[in-house]
Amino acid sequence: MKVRFAPSPTGLLHVGNGRTALINFLAARKLQGSVVLRIDDTDRERSKSEYEQAILEDLDWLQVGHDLMVRQSERVQHHRAAAELLKSRGLLYPAYETAEELERRRKRALALKRPPIYDRAALKLSAVERAAQEAQGRQPHWRFKLSHRKVSWHDLIRGDVEIDTAHLSDPVLIRADGSFLYTLPSVVDDIDLAITHIIRGEDHVTNTAVQIEIFAALGQELPAFAHFPLLVGSGGEALSKRLGSLSLRQMREEGIEAPALFAYLARIGTSEPVALAGREDLIAGFDFAKIGRAPAHFDPAELAGLSARLLHGLDYEAVRLRLHALGVGGGDDFWQAVRTNLTRFADVIDLWRIVEGPVVPSIEDAELARLAIQCLPEGPVSENTWSQWTLDLAARSGRKGRQLFRPLRLALTGLEHGPELKKLLPLIGRDKVVARLEGKSV
Ligand code: GLU
Repeated sequence: MKVRFAPSPTGLLHVGNGRTALINFLAARKLQGSVVLRIDDTDRERSKSEYEQAILEDLDWLQVGHDLMVRQSERVQHHRAAAELLKSRGLLYPAYETAEELERRRKRALALKRPPIYDRAALKLSAVERAAQEAQGRQPHWRFKLSHRKVSWHDLIRGDVEIDTAHLSDPVLIRADGSFLYTLPSVVDDIDLAITHIIRGEDHVTNTAVQIEIFAALGQELPAFAHFPLLVGSGGEALSKRLGSLSLRQMREEGIEAPALFAYLARIGTSEPVALAGREDLIAGFDFAKIGRAPAHFDPAELAGLSARLLHGLDYEAVRLRLHALGVGGGDDFWQAVRTNLTRFADVIDLWRIVEGPVVPSIEDAELARLAIQCLPEGPVSENTWSQWTLDLAARSGRKGRQLFRPLRLALTGLEHGPELKKLLPLIGRDKVVARLEGKSV
């Protein structure tokens, strides 16, 4: 088995592209196959090396690996050779219509309630007529001559699919400037790289009918096809790659943990519930048969919740270097005290400030604060200090519950809410506890 993920470097990867990459990756790892990362950079104007770099970084972050990378721009001679072969077989023909002419014909067809399909006028041009067009300086674009037969395949997700190519326009494979559109290079590269499974979104189903005809025209065997329903927004709207907030990049910046996104994308739209499963389990559990036929709804809140739950369960060893990189100390004790309070990892910075200071204490009740200093048990502060201390303080002040804990928290942290004080207290340490109760910013 050999699969490919084929992003165009014309923008950042969005969550839908990430899912395509992931489904290919899971399928390949499950079935001992390999993954080709194919950079679809035939559109020279819109393709940018920064985007290619970003694609590599984002896939690396998501931990979706590949075994080989190719760029379509470096394979143009193969695309040209295939085009020549199609021309020699009479299956690729020159057409001279301008975009305006085609648009006019399209509108006329629609007005007459006919399907707006290219009428193959160019196919009827004589050699003399073609020469006349070129004498006027018109460069042709090139169309593939569809068979106008029914193309069928057994899709690994959709089951039996049949498309009548008589209902399609002959696709343009080469623009008037000689550059290739996506359709032919994709087939040529899939052939040359011996791709066995083409796994992509169902927006490519019609392309598949065309591409199957091109495989046949080039005398090649077909790979298997699997088309999954697209991810849509909560209102059912398409996710466009230009929506910045849905880019993998943005998600990373917003603090989504990559393994949570990996798990989310592996299960969304399948018969199994979205859950914090590990990579190996997700690979082992992959099956085309589990991918549903309905569009999968992408829910950012569900993803954020999954990401937070992932953080809550991480051991100190898993985050040691990340804490260090953010200048956060406190070791395992600090991590255990705060991890379940995190929504995003970067929240540790503010929580560490509670320990390190300076905290601007909020003293609501100076009398209670004075009493608290008096009640603080002698000696170093430990995890047991809190319960002894607050029992004693409750007895001496006559306060309990919120009446007692809220002013203490405000004095010690300057905040209304936060991690368990019992665990924070030893980290803050006796001197700072006393100073904050005295109203000092330390
Ligand atoms: N570059 C194409 C896309 O991003 C690839 C489609 C395919 O998988 O063949 O839509």
